[in-house]
Amino acid sequence: MFGVIMTWIMLICVIIGMIFIGRVIQSEDQKSQLSQLHQTTELWAESFSIRLNSDLDRLGQLHNALPQNLSFRDNLSRLEQQTRELMQQRAEILEINYLDGNNRVVASFASPHPFGDITLRTGERYQRPSTMGAILRSRRTGSSSFSEPYSLPIEGSPFIDLVSPSIVGGERYLQISRLSIWSLLRQATQSRRDASFRISLLYNSEPIVAASTDSRRQTITYKMHLSPLPAGFELQVSSYAQGLLTQNTLFWVISALGIFLVVALLGLIRFNWRQNSTETALRAESALRKTIADSQLSGLQVTDRNGRIVYTNRTFTDLLGLSANEHLIGQLPPYSYWPKGDAGFRLMELFDTIKRGQMTTTSYEFHPLRPDGSTFSAFIHISPMITVEGTHLGWLWTLTDISEIRQAQERVTAAHERFTRVLESMQDAISVVDPQSNVLLFSNTVYDSLFGETSQGHLQAHMELINQMGEKKVKEASDMSSDIYLEDLDRWFDLHERTITWTDRTAVRLQILSDITERRKNENLLVEQQARSELNSRLVTMGEMASSLAHELNQPLTAISNYAFIVSSLMKKAGVPEEHEMFYSISRIEAQAQRAAAIIQRIRSFTKRSEPKMESIPVMNLIKEVMELASIQARRHNAKLQYYVAPDITNVWCDEIMIEQVLLNLIKNGIEASVGIEGQKPEVTLTVYSGIDHHIIFEVADNGVGIDDEHKAQLFDPFFTTKSTGMGMGLNICRTIVELHHGRLTISDNIGRGTIFTLTLPSENKQTV
Ligand code: ADP
Repeated sequence: MFGVIMTWIMLICVIIGMIFIGRVIQSEDQKSQLSQLHQTTELWAESFSIRLNSDLDRLGQLHNALPQNLSFRDNLSRLEQQTRELMQQRAEILEINYLDGNNRVVASFASPHPFGDITLRTGERYQRPSTMGAILRSRRTGSSSFSEPYSLPIEGSPFIDLVSPSIVGGERYLQISRLSIWSLLRQATQSRRDASFRISLLYNSEPIVAASTDSRRQTITYKMHLSPLPAGFELQVSSYAQGLLTQNTLFWVISALGIFLVVALLGLIRFNWRQNSTETALRAESALRKTIADSQLSGLQVTDRNGRIVYTNRTFTDLLGLSANEHLIGQLPPYSYWPKGDAGFRLMELFDTIKRGQMTTTSYEFHPLRPDGSTFSAFIHISPMITVEGTHLGWLWTLTDISEIRQAQERVTAAHERFTRVLESMQDAISVVDPQSNVLLFSNTVYDSLFGETSQGHLQAHMELINQMGEKKVKEASDMSSDIYLEDLDRWFDLHERTITWTDRTAVRLQILSDITERRKNENLLVEQQARSELNSRLVTMGEMASSLAHELNQPLTAISNYAFIVSSLMKKAGVPEEHEMFYSISRIEAQAQRAAAIIQRIRSFTKRSEPKMESIPVMNLIKEVMELASIQARRHNAKLQYYVAPDITNVWCDEIMIEQVLLNLIKNGIEASVGIEGQKPEVTLTVYSGIDHHIIFEVADNGVGIDDEHKAQLFDPFFTTKSTGMGMGLNICRTIVELHHGRLTISDNIGRGTIFTLTLPSENKQTV
């Protein structure tokens, strides 16, 4: 930091120095410019004086050579010649006049130079106001005198007149010489003429010859009196001040040096700053390293190649219950904290192996010894410390306290064991599956024994649940349960499924399958039993009703039979011929009344579950009886009724009335199913043929509405009916009768439309065969 500040101070000094040097150079410049101006002005004023004095001398000497004995007039030509010669040599003298005592011009001579002009004519009175003062002064004092400066509208302005008293031919005259100040000045300033100088002539501080100057530029000026001109005449020389330092090479050299210095200093500042920040960063890093080393959860111990301890961090000493590093620094293995006996010996061996290079790095679990004699579980890891160049410096020992980990492990193991034991002791199959990968994450032994150690069983049960509940519902609900049937196992389960968070925080599916096959069987049995007892009670009621009905009907039927007999006796007595068809009808009434009585008798005995009265009955007799009875109903419904009996058919072993009852019921159902179908006539056909194994097959086919598959199983249930007036007992009784005959009654669909009921009965008594 000090370096940076010093460099900044130096930088400021350099800048101040440069400004100072600039100022010095500038003032030196100005000084030399001023002295040059003085010199030049003095030089010019000097040469002006010399010229003018010389002019005065020459003018004064003009008359000296004139012969004094001759008059002015006689000397005139000589005078003219001399003046002309003089004016020829002195360009500034432009005119010479001579005045008499009355100021009348007696002679006038003009310069032969182009600017020479006669401004006064001979005989004229001299009246130029600027000169009048000088004329008076000259007459009074008798010496030369200069007029005031004046201008004329001719070349060479401004002018000044020199008035000198002169004696020619013994008479007093005044010689007036007109001098061009401009010309004098021009000649005086010929030498050292420089464009930067501006020359002016002042009279009483007013410029009479003025140089043009650029007013915007700063000028320096020097004035000097011009002798022998009278006071008031001043030569003024101005020069443009050398304003810009930049025109000075020295300035540039110094500036370049200064800039170089500034740049160098800035570079130095930058370097210093970098160095500073690097140092700060280094300091921070080393502090950080120390903090890291001290705050490490692991203890660090650094040893040289032989194992001599050179450094330990705070954690290391803290773990070992030591107060300061001194206890350990300098120790060689076996260290004081190593356990005594076998364990310590093994550590020594381990280190020796590593030292010999037979092992690179290694970890070892042991129980370090604290000074108070207590120990703890720790892990020591030894690794070599090798520099970038490959030099082996020593060893880094990392000591980690694992006593808490060990305890936690033990707790986890115990908890796991408890958990597993609980799960294993359960009767249910428990499984956990990752729904993303379908991998089995957990299963208890019950599950494994049912499905093996795969997720197959779990997935099957899940699919069953989806089939029952729908995929959407299963996906949305986090907790579901349902009874499912697993076909592979032929068992029913109460499935309980829910989503839980697994140990790795992912959502997994837990399934608990409880086997409910037995329970379900019992439940079904119970339901069946209930239905059966209900049915039984209805059958019993019906049986009782049939029994009382039979009792009630027996009387009127006996009466009908008796009355029929009486009618036929009366008709015989009245002499009605025996072949009269009324006898036939009466005999049918009588027969049917007896049949009705027989049926009622059968029902009574049937409801009392009495055995059928089995006989070998000729099939043709049976068919004819059935057809006759059925034809009454067929006619009522305008149905076509027909039958075919195979020629080999003879007898059938049955209770005639019962089987007639069965066939009549089947034909009645067939007609009822075929009636009312538009565009077709009801048609029922009874076909009888022999089946295998001494069986006779009766087929009752109709062209009716047919039977739905779902109804087929229920047809034989008691009280099942689709008819508004039906009782639903017909087919149930039929099947009971058939079962009593050890026969079979099946249903199949007729070709085209309708149903075929097939009744199979043995043709003869099996017990006797
Ligand atoms: P019910 O005739 O009093 O209804 P049934 O036990 O004789 O009682 O018949 C039970 C049911 O079986 C009938 O209601 C009827 O729906 C059906 N069924 C019986 N026979 C036929 C058939 N040949 N064609 C169509 N349905 C029949």
